[in-house]
Order: sequence, then structure tokens, then C-alpha cells
Amino acid sequence: MTELKDVKGIGPKALSLLNKININTIEDLVTHYPFRYEVLERNDLSKVEDGGKIIIDGKIESVPILMRFKAGLNKMNFRLVTPSGVVGVSIFNRAFLKNQLSVGTGITVIGKLDKSKNVITASDIKMETLMSKAKIEPVYHCTSGLTNKNLSTYINMALLMYGKEIKDYIPPVYVEKYNFLNKKTALNIIHNPSTMEKLKEVSIRLKYEELFAFMFKINYLKLQNKKNSNGLVRNINREKINSFIKNLPYKLTNDQLKAINEIIEDLQSPNRMNRLLQGDVGSGKTIVSFIGMIANHYSGYQSALMAPTEILAVQHYNNLKDFLAGTDIKVELLTGSTPKKDKQQIYKGLKDGSISMIVGTHALIQEEVEYCNLGLVITDEQHRFGVHQRANLQNKGVRPDVLYMSATPIPRTYALTIFGDMDVSTIKERPKGRQKIDTFVRKYSEIKDVLGMMYEELKKNHQVYVIAPLIEDSENSDLATVCNLKDQMKLAFGEHYKIDIVHGKMANGAKDIIMNQFKNNEIQILISTTVVEVGVDVPNATTMVIFDAERFGLSTLHQLRGRVGRGSSKSICILISDNDTERLKIMEREDDGFVISEEDFKLRGHGDLFGTKQSGDMSFKIANIRQDYKILLQAKKDSKEYLMDKESDNEELKKLLISTITEG
Ligand code: ADP
Ligand code: MG
Repeated sequence: MTELKDVKGIGPKALSLLNKININTIEDLVTHYPFRYEVLERNDLSKVEDGGKIIIDGKIESVPILMRFKAGLNKMNFRLVTPSGVVGVSIFNRAFLKNQLSVGTGITVIGKLDKSKNVITASDIKMETLMSKAKIEPVYHCTSGLTNKNLSTYINMALLMYGKEIKDYIPPVYVEKYNFLNKKTALNIIHNPSTMEKLKEVSIRLKYEELFAFMFKINYLKLQNKKNSNGLVRNINREKINSFIKNLPYKLTNDQLKAINEIIEDLQSPNRMNRLLQGDVGSGKTIVSFIGMIANHYSGYQSALMAPTEILAVQHYNNLKDFLAGTDIKVELLTGSTPKKDKQQIYKGLKDGSISMIVGTHALIQEEVEYCNLGLVITDEQHRFGVHQRANLQNKGVRPDVLYMSATPIPRTYALTIFGDMDVSTIKERPKGRQKIDTFVRKYSEIKDVLGMMYEELKKNHQVYVIAPLIEDSENSDLATVCNLKDQMKLAFGEHYKIDIVHGKMANGAKDIIMNQFKNNEIQILISTTVVEVGVDVPNATTMVIFDAERFGLSTLHQLRGRVGRGSSKSICILISDNDTERLKIMEREDDGFVISEEDFKLRGHGDLFGTKQSGDMSFKIANIRQDYKILLQAKKDSKEYLMDKESDNEELKKLLISTITEG
């Protein structure tokens, strides 16, 4: 196979620079797409600033004077008549053009204008007038030592030498159906567009190709998962499950019941469960997962429930213990701060099977942990786990079923892609009796007002969360901090109420103590960073105050707001900010997490929705699934059709597409 170093002009130094920006193959090189284009319109001499870029048509007025210097360098000077006046042109190292540059010839000059000398130092001369056309220059991501020009040269050389070898991932039927240009031509145009129309046309083709290949893989994985009948087959004891449901202090919503059914069906079927359970904050996902664990237990397997924070793991553990009260099911908690002695005991119990359910943090997937017969893995708020960690936990069991829970509703587009190989259960309906949380956006100048609202709630014996973006004051920021707010809140309320703080830098044990005190109403005002964002459940807390709220994505704000409104009392959420209040006002209007995540997605992209690891999965070279949603849908449909098409004579292409699936 031809390698990058075979491209003419790419020496060892260039090769290592290219590798540095992740260009390792010829395919990488020619699909190193410009991230933008500079459109050079032809301009008037009078309208260009001194030293500014100019592109201008004209006729040569004087015979070029050629000067030769040492080391083979040369320079030519001539005068050009343009519609906006006469100008001098000098250009280096184009002696070979001298014969073509005869007086009267129409040319286009591209360069920089020196106004005082009335001279253009040209970087390029085109031997034809562009007439009305604009010049479109690709702009690439570069690195020090590797210029835009270098990249353009290498790319064009690679296309010239090996353009025919470059693989096209679009099956011929679809190339034909959509009348797409061939791959080589498309690449040529994307790197050297002559018009915006052409550019648009080929970029659709290349985006389609990328999305087609991606969706093909997703569809393939999904199909494989369905085909693999080596998942666990269980006999589920519905009676037992129903008796648990009957004994709950509340009635499950229809959506909860539906999700439970879907999970049980997955557990019974020989297919491996790979399911996302999504539902807004407070929609009651936890109980659904507990019932899944019960079903798994009575069919003879161990379950693991993994949470992203220690606080949340402890909470789940306590709830699960309450839920299991009166049964002989053994459940344990395993986190980073579990004492060594206890850990050894737990490892032993997991290995010999005496522990049936384990709740914990990342500690659950550490090397030392061995399971007897892990049948079900549940991860809460899964968007906080990297793909690698998820894979790691799956590898612990025989072939455990996996349920991911997320309170960040995934915008439709992402549900299609990142979770495209998963089945999805959605809880939309909220438990009865929940009231809307009144939300207010307030400026710093209205802080008295805010303190007043807090006081009203405290007087009713309710509790308050206060959130700041930072922990401690620092020199280069004047954002609100947990430590600073603690002092201020003490001044305002310290006489009658207990105030404390919790944040990610505290030791785990210390965090738990504070969280427990807050839960027991021994603390009335809890000041915190976003560590309380996920899942914490304190029904008596009715007020959420967020300082410098503009620092957070809407989905995060929605999560934070979801910490209140968990009991029967009316709850409020106050967003304090002097900036970006328009965006924050969406929070005043909207309380549907699905709508908010769509809005957030429109405003910020997916950065706020997933950890960076997962955003990495989503990085396309040319497609943008937000803007190219329609292409995505088409590619999804076509790739599925193609995958299912047994008649297809193009097994080789199918194999190629499958071979690009990387583990991870
Ligand atoms: P989330 O989906 O955000 O994880 P939780 O599972 O923490 O929500 O549930 C929030 C609260 O609602 C908990 O206190 C839980 O006991 C309660 N809950 C769950 N389902 C119901 C229901 N059907 N009716 C009333 N309360 C419920
Ligand atoms: Mg939860």
C-alpha cells in the first residue's frame, strides 16, 4: 500500500509534522478538510488598506523587468492598468512567466498592496482574468513548521499521484442515485473550489459519505447485538416483582411501568440488553433500575449499580437497602473510601457470589474486583462515564446486560448517533403531585430580593441550596465562589441557621458527613459547586440559588434545578447573573428537560451534554450532525437498506466498512 512518505515532497521532517496533527495515511491527508475558506473578491485599489490583501484584474502596460539574484532567486517588475488605476507589480521567482507576460495581456494579480509605493507584491499571478469570479482559498488547521501552503501542496500532490486509489465508502447504487461526483473529483474540488456552488455540491457528497459510513457501523453493531444470542436467558418471576411494586409507598407512572416491562423483556430474551433509560430529573428512574435488579437477582445473577459520584452512590445504596428491607438479599457499597479491610471482605463476597447486589463508584471496575456471575450492570447518569470505563465494566461479567440511565435527555440527533446502537426507554410522565418549580432570573443589583426569597423559605423550615461556579477566590476571576458565599451567607443568616459547604476537593468522608447533615436538616443552607448536580435527593430542600448562572449550560442548570421540587411543597429556583440573561430566560419559561436540551444543543453544541471522551466519538471530519441533520437521516436510511440487502454484490465494500469499526 502506498504510504504518506511516498508522496512527492513529503520528507521525514514533513512526515513527522503531519503525524503530529494526526495525519498518518494518504487517506488522512486528503481528508484533512479545510476548516474554512477565505473568499477573495476582486477589489479596487482605493478600497484596499495599506498592506492589505488584494486581488485585481488588469492589462500589462510595461515590459516586465527581470532581476536575478544569488542562489537562483529572481524578481520581476511591471506596470498594470486596472479599472481603478495604474499600479506597479513585483513578483519573486516567476522568471519562467516572463515570455507570457507580454504587454496587453489580461491577468489577475493576487498579493499585498503597498499604498505609499503604489506597488502590489504579488504572491500569485493567474494568466487569465477571473472576470466576475471570486477566488476561494482553503484554510487548514496547521501546526508550527507546517503552513497552509505546505498542506495544500501535499494534499494536491497526493491527489495527483494517488487520487485513484482513494476509497469511496458510498456504494455505487447511491452514487448513482444521487448523481454524486466521483471521490477523486470531489476531493479535488473541496481542496480547490472554483465556485461556492461547486463547493457546496461536493461538501454534501463528502458529508453524506462520512455519515453513511458512520451509520452503517452503528446499524451493523445493532444487528450483531440482535444476532448474538449468547446473552443470558432468564426465567423472570413476575409475581415476586409485582409484590415489590405493590409494596411501594406510591403508584408507579405508566412510563415507569412501561420501562420496567421493556427491561424485563430484555432480560428474558437471549439478546444482550443494551438499553438507555432516559427521563427528566425526578422522573423516577432509580426505582425502575431497582426493580430491574430484583428481577435479575431472582433469576440467579449479581447486579452492579455504578454512580458517577460518591454522594450519589451512597444515596443509591441507602435507598436500595430500604427497598430491600425484609428480604435476605445481600447488598454492599464499594467506593474509593471504603476501608481496606471491608474492601477485602466485599471482594470475597463478590467472587463467591454471597453478595448479590453491589452499588458503587468507579471502584466497581477496578482490576481487583472479580464477580461470580454478574448478570446486570446499571450505570447512573452515564454521560459522566467515559466509553472506556463502560467497556471495562462490561468485560467483568460473562455477558452482562447493560442499562444506562441518563437524566440529560438526548436531543433527537444525538440519540440517533451516539446511542444509535442502543434501545431507548423514555420516561416522560412525572410522578403525580409534582409542582412546577418557579424560576427567576435576577441581577446582582437585586440580591436583597433574592435573600428575601431565601428567608421566606427558611422561615417555613425549608432548606436551601446555593451554587457557585468556583470553590475559592482567585486573582484572575471575580466569579462567585463557595468560600466567599459562605462568609456572606453567614452574615445574612448565620444567626439562626446552620450553613455549610461541600465541593469536589473535599475528602469523600467529609462530603458524606455534610450531605447527611443536610439530608437530616441539621444544615439549612448548603453551599456547593455542581457536585450536587447529579441525582441528590433531599425533598425538604425547596430553594435553589445559582450564582453566575451564565457560566453553566442550560442542561446543567436544569439538573441543578431538579434538586428541588422533590417534595410536596412549592419550590423555587433563582438564577443570578448580569450577563446572557436572554439565554437564562429560557429556564423561566421551560421546565421540560427535553426541550431545554434541544435549546442548549442549538446554542452550545453537545459539549455540555457529554464528557469529552464521548464528544470525541462524535467528531466528524466534515459533517456536523446539527447542521447536516437531513443528510444524516438519509444516510441512516440508506445504510440500513444497504446492510440488509442480501443481494448486494458489493461484499468487499461491506467488509471495508465493517473493518473500520474500532473497539472502544
Ligand atoms: P431521577 O429520575 O431523577 O433519578 P429519582 O429516581 O431520584 O429521579 O426519583 C425522584 C423522587 O421521586 C424520589 O424521591 C422517588 O422516591 C420519587 N418517585 C419515584 N417514582 C415515583 C412515583 N411514581 N410517584 C411518586 N414519587 C416517585
Ligand atoms: Mg437519578
